[in-house]
Amino acid sequence: MIDKAKRVDEIYKTLHAMPEVGFAEHRTSKFLAEALQKAGYKVTTGIGGTGIVGTISSGKPGQTVALRADMDALSHTVKGQDICVHSCGHDAHSAMTLTAAEVMAEQGVKAGTLKIVFQPAEEKFEGALKMIESGALNGIDIMFGMHLRPIQEAKSGQASPAIYHGASYLIEATVTGLTAHGARPHLGINVIDAAVAVVQAVNAIRSNPVVPWSIKTTRLHAGGSTLNVIPDRAEMVFDLRAQADKSADELIEKVKQAVVSGAATVGAKAEAVVKAGSPGAEYDSVLVEIARKAITAVLGPSGLLDPIVTPGGEDFHYFTKKIQGLRTAYIGLGCDAEPGLHHPDFHFDHAMMPKGVAILLKAVELSMV
Ligand SMILES: [Zn+2]
Ligand SMILES: [Zn+2]
Repeated sequence: MIDKAKRVDEIYKTLHAMPEVGFAEHRTSKFLAEALQKAGYKVTTGIGGTGIVGTISSGKPGQTVALRADMDALSHTVKGQDICVHSCGHDAHSAMTLTAAEVMAEQGVKAGTLKIVFQPAEEKFEGALKMIESGALNGIDIMFGMHLRPIQEAKSGQASPAIYHGASYLIEATVTGLTAHGARPHLGINVIDAAVAVVQAVNAIRSNPVVPWSIKTTRLHAGGSTLNVIPDRAEMVFDLRAQADKSADELIEKVKQAVVSGAATVGAKAEAVVKAGSPGAEYDSVLVEIARKAITAVLGPSGLLDPIVTPGGEDFHYFTKKIQGLRTAYIGLGCDAEPGLHHPDFHFDHAMMPKGVAILLKAVELSMV
């Protein structure tokens, strides 16, 4: 019989030692695919890039239940060095999901079909969409996901049956001015003046305060190596969040307008496009109840938290939005994670990984009826 604690730790250490950014998860994907195959799954690889789907059928009628984990790490610049780190805990998600998959293969699937989905490029908000577009996920009825939570949201020994991510989008803008000699600025249009006006215009956007939201400039590149010319091209990125999809859609339009009209105040031209993003969470109440029962069974009633509303985004929510009939729930696992997600020093209580495995197993067991 598989020792869950030992196995999840072993897989975690392997994945943690080979962090790879979105769509470059080649070694990670190969390792996970081989392990699934060895456990007895029928495995399809290369889905939407490096994605994998493992399937085990009970041979009996029933629903198709899926567990989904993300595989990608993040790049960070630390002391001038570019490094890749599993700073969002996706190594732990994949380790918990693979361990649960191996245990379920060993125990045998009771009814219906079990699918294990390893998704690339969650951080780019592109991996889920790419896998959906391939058609490989059609036919899934139920899907569970899980994410480690920062200590501010959940502590070790606690878990939440529903993480309500907001809608989250990245908007990219290009501003075009007119270059000129630094001595003759009146003959040019300085894109830095334009970009400053754009930042001001974006910062002046308002939205219904009842719905939490935020917009901020996260990139502004302008000017080159020559310092005595008027720069004529700027690239900007805005990070937009809103707890309701309707607010997010309205805000996207307002940002596009602000970019164009802000730049126009100094005569520059600009355009803005949504580069990536994800809609907000929408869960199935029956599955959230199953998640609640699974958490209580593993952590006891004191470990069960209420649903958590978080400003973070997750491309997991495309599965519900884009696949007909697919219902989801997404569990947040407390593990004293500090200093925070996306911090290069991210660390957490590893003793919670076997608990996460047990919660996933229980959730699948309760769904397979
Ligand atoms: Zn992340
Ligand atoms: Zn993440």
